[in-house]
Amino acid sequence: MVKRLRTRLENLFFPSKCIFCGKLLPSSTKREESLCPECEKKLPYCVDTLKCKSCHRPIHEGVYCDACRKHPQRPYTRLMAAYLYRDRVKRSIARFKRERYRSYGAVYARHLCAVISYECKDLTFDLALPVPARKARMNKEGYNQAACLARMVAKGMGIPYGGELLRQKEERQKQSELTAAQRWLNTQDNILVTRPKKIQGKTILLIDDVCTTGATMFACALALRRAGAKAVYCVAAAAAEKE
Ligand SMILES: [Zn+2]
Ligand SMILES: [Zn+2]
Repeated sequence: MVKRLRTRLENLFFPSKCIFCGKLLPSSTKREESLCPECEKKLPYCVDTLKCKSCHRPIHEGVYCDACRKHPQRPYTRLMAAYLYRDRVKRSIARFKRERYRSYGAVYARHLCAVISYECKDLTFDLALPVPARKARMNKEGYNQAACLARMVAKGMGIPYGGELLRQKEERQKQSELTAAQRWLNTQDNILVTRPKKIQGKTILLIDDVCTTGATMFACALALRRAGAKAVYCVAAAAAEKE
């Protein structure tokens, strides 16, 4: 009852809009359905794109992604995404960071759950974790969009959610002052596993909203494996394909 009233109030003040193009949707639209039929059909889904032979990350050309070429001993098994990080997806994710509407996370999570179920049919995950945000990157209320998404994916897949098990240390040097190679190295020892016992022997689903270079995913997976995780699977709502 309370929930229904809240939905009606929300719809009154924040009418349902397509999270990708902003088109108004019928007021009965559920959160996880907040996209118009045209976007649902025409989004740049990763299903149909070229993928790295080794880790399944979407790539632009060639056989392997940049991370797999440079680091054949990568710490995660697969890197999956729902969409390519471009055009309306890019703009939608920027709004998700800024405006914290749960409808964004709900739509991404629905598509991600479909990808995970398809790509990892016979796998059981023990734990779903978000990529941690640096304090400097979160807003005043401590909103971390990766955590918002991870919680929804965990719920959708029926996997226990392990919120604060990863932490990002504060930066000593601004990333923008570093070269790409330095930035990669700098990221690698920046992740902390807060309670290693909780992840030992576990198969982990690591979740972020967007994966650009893949350096943060790599660092988190590395920290988890070093702390004793059995396997790490990375998923992002969107992945850049250029690397
Ligand atoms: Zn749309
Ligand atoms: Zn790869």
